[in-house]
Amino acid sequence: MNAKTTPRVDIIPEECKGCQLCVGECPKNVIKMSEKINQFGYNYAEYTGEGCIGCGMCFYACPEPGTITVYKK
Ligand code: SF4
Ligand code: SF4
Repeated sequence: MNAKTTPRVDIIPEECKGCQLCVGECPKNVIKMSEKINQFGYNYAEYTGEGCIGCGMCFYACPEPGTITVYKK
């Protein structure tokens, strides 16, 4: 965790299984499902690019370890 980093999330498209749990858990509604699909045929989750507060709810909701990385302030 870098103290100077703006809170954000990185979501690896090819690891996402499209379950949408992170979308439902995010209190700021800053994760959306892409209209594109990954190599496994899943619509994957994407960070909208702003508004993340680094709460980690999406990280704990995601059943796919390593897919979501949260960068806190
Ligand atoms: S860390 Fe919190 S605010 Fe940021 S995308 Fe995840 S659930 Fe949303
Ligand atoms: S919770 Fe994880 S696997 Fe499910 S849509 Fe979000 S990033 Fe993808």
